[in-house]
Amino acid sequence: MKVLKFGGTSVANASNISLVKNIVANTNTNKTIVVVSAFGGVTDLLLNAAHLASKQSEGYKSILKEIEDRHLETAKELIHVNAQSKVLSKVKSELNTLETLLEGAFLIGEITPRLSDKIVSYGELLSSYIISEYFAQEGLKAGYLDSRELIKTNDVNGKATVNFDLTNANCANFLDKDEHQVIVMGGFIASSESGNSTTLGRGGSDYTAAIIAAAINAEFLEIWTDVSGMYTANPKLVKQAKAIPHISYEEAMELSHFGAKVLYPPTIQPVLAKGISIVIKNTFEPENAGTLITKNKNEKGKTVRGISHVENIALLSLEGPGMVGIPGTSKRFFEVLSQSEISVVLITQASSEHSICVGISADDIDKATEVVNAAFEYEIERGKIKPVIAEKELAIIALVGDNMKSHQGLSGKMFSTLGKNNVNLRVIAQGASERNISAVIKKEDVKKALNALHEEFFEENIKQLNLFVMGVGNVGSKFLNQVYQQKKFLKENLKLNIRVIGMSNSRTMVFEENGISLKNWEEALAGGQKADKVEFMKMVNELNYRNSIFVDNTASEEVSKTYNTYLGNSISVVTCNKIACSSAYENYQELKSLARTYNAPFLFETNVGAGLPIIDTLKHLIASGDKILKIQAVLSGSLNFVFNNFNDKTTFHDVVKQAQQEGYTEPDPKIDLSGVDVMRKILILARESGNQLEITDIANKPFLPQESLDTDNNEDFFATLIKNEDDFQAMYKEANDANSKLKYVAQFEDGKASVGLQAIPKGHDFYNLEGSDNIVLFYTERYPNQPMIIKGAGAGADVTASGIFADIIRIGNF
Ligand code: ADP
Ligand code: ASP
Ligand code: MG
Repeated sequence: MKVLKFGGTSVANASNISLVKNIVANTNTNKTIVVVSAFGGVTDLLLNAAHLASKQSEGYKSILKEIEDRHLETAKELIHVNAQSKVLSKVKSELNTLETLLEGAFLIGEITPRLSDKIVSYGELLSSYIISEYFAQEGLKAGYLDSRELIKTNDVNGKATVNFDLTNANCANFLDKDEHQVIVMGGFIASSESGNSTTLGRGGSDYTAAIIAAAINAEFLEIWTDVSGMYTANPKLVKQAKAIPHISYEEAMELSHFGAKVLYPPTIQPVLAKGISIVIKNTFEPENAGTLITKNKNEKGKTVRGISHVENIALLSLEGPGMVGIPGTSKRFFEVLSQSEISVVLITQASSEHSICVGISADDIDKATEVVNAAFEYEIERGKIKPVIAEKELAIIALVGDNMKSHQGLSGKMFSTLGKNNVNLRVIAQGASERNISAVIKKEDVKKALNALHEEFFEENIKQLNLFVMGVGNVGSKFLNQVYQQKKFLKENLKLNIRVIGMSNSRTMVFEENGISLKNWEEALAGGQKADKVEFMKMVNELNYRNSIFVDNTASEEVSKTYNTYLGNSISVVTCNKIACSSAYENYQELKSLARTYNAPFLFETNVGAGLPIIDTLKHLIASGDKILKIQAVLSGSLNFVFNNFNDKTTFHDVVKQAQQEGYTEPDPKIDLSGVDVMRKILILARESGNQLEITDIANKPFLPQESLDTDNNEDFFATLIKNEDDFQAMYKEANDANSKLKYVAQFEDGKASVGLQAIPKGHDFYNLEGSDNIVLFYTERYPNQPMIIKGAGAGADVTASGIFADIIRIGNF
């Protein structure tokens, strides 16, 4: 004998029910009890109709009509025309009774729990009847059974308690007499000894099936649903979740207690007592193995088996000096909750005994507040205990596993993962069985927390980085192409899964929750909405992904002013835009401190030397205790390009133009030629070396004539270069005559920084610097005479893009 239970989605319509029939027909056993839920969504419709009727709203009628149509249409689709009249007339007669009950509630303007149970029972009554008739027609030797005849409960409506003695005896009796091979019955519904309809709680069809399985000593209990088993986390929220092949009763119970809806929590108890195995399978993918639930099964001593969560939680805290050392306070607290039928999902008690705090369903919070305040009225009036504090909009998240007790460090790992992702923990609790560690967090953080924990505990350290890219011009587009090309390598070798969730240029922006396809991102962006920096930021916050990184590929001051908000929301920032780090020292400091406080890296390696690891090296030198004595550098790829190509056979204007066209200069080349760009870079290096410097502290003797510096647009600027060609040629000649080359040099020593054009003689480290290369000499306490030298391509979209990419990978390894 086997018991098979099919949930709401499995029986939602005629075509699903035909799949159910195939599964039942292929079941290999002498007798099958099939327990079915109401057609998917019908229980909600019934409850909604009952609610509206009790509020005397005519709205209940249209819902009733929907319920009628669903059942009549499904019956017509399943049952052959010549046999329809019997089935339809029975269905119609039941629907008529339902209508009368709803009318009653409407007329009185009230609904009792008993009437509500009666109304809601029609979902399972109708589904089981229609399905049994269909099975019989299809050649299964099937009979119908009204579950209320077998399952007996007390008279508490809404969630009745089963009388196992009576129920088990009824089941044994029934089996003795019944000769069908397949018996179809409704889940969830039962009746009291006095004959009234009762129900077993929402999701209770699983429980019905378990009660029957235990009563008849079934070989197996199969729960057929719309997912392929019990997953490592709710698959609707965690895409990477996987079905758990084999799990113990206790683990399954714990996961379902903490919200794994796939199994109604009380289901395990009856079958556990009899040692009957449960298998959870997918009606729509019956070939999948699903999850097997048996005694003490723990694969290879795994610790965390699943992560579950309960939304809609509230915390109720009672505290006050009057609780210390007074026995019985907790007892009274829990007693009053239990008398009001409020179940406690999670308990914590401060070791000072100064307070008790419990997690309950948010639906119960008003009632709970009222009854607890009433119970402690005497103490509250005398100031010994404070009125209860209620907090809403919370959720519980729990790690579950039998073997967690023998492992240290799991809670540390859990809390640091949540901390890194800026998920605040309101309460932490560990089950006495040490089979769970649970935490109360804000409801809005659930998805992020689940995914971050899942990644930490189940995904073989694959870490997902979620990028929000602003600016897709020269550098940005190269960067996106690099990510596209390296995606597979990073996943396989560095265990990093990089997705671009949002991107924007100055015209449009686009978001794609599962990642924008990088193969044709241009198309996606073109079809996006109007760009807006504030809206972009709001969206990044709202999406609330773990490991979010904002990537700024612009040169915009406005964008640089948004970093503090990103960092303050634990969103890392990677930027090639130098404006923020070279702005007021106070601002630079604030950004660094936000990054530390909110655990969100702020990386800007490309601010100096494009992709060269200059800032990173500096950081490592300092972190390992070295001190910077002097920095000498050629930091402008653009100026190096210009002075390497400029001679008496070219004009200064043409060389600058070429540099601009080849992407070696800032969009506004004056920023490079005036030395401002180099000032920013040496300022950043000085600051990163631990010095408090402002841009105005840097000495800059410009080589450009004043009239070039005074222009305010590119066209005028270039015109002045033509006009002053003779001066530029004279500069070149003077250096050339002295066997020197012109280099734009930045220097920092003794707290002072300067930038300017210098004639560099043969033999100097800078003399042979080619093309757009950069060079930095770090003189430090460890490298006092022979400096540490970093040299290489220091400008260009490709190398800058790869520097940004490197920063992102650094965050991935953070
Ligand atoms: P049925 O109607 O078949 O009883 P339910 O909706 O009650 O189905 O339960 C199945 C649903 O449980 C899944 O669709 C999924 O959304 C949810 N669920 C939550 N947590 C888990 C989990 N850990 N594993 C599988 N499903 C889960
Ligand atoms: N139909 C009931 C509900 O939706 C019972 C069940 O499906 O398990 O809660
Ligand atoms: Mg269910």
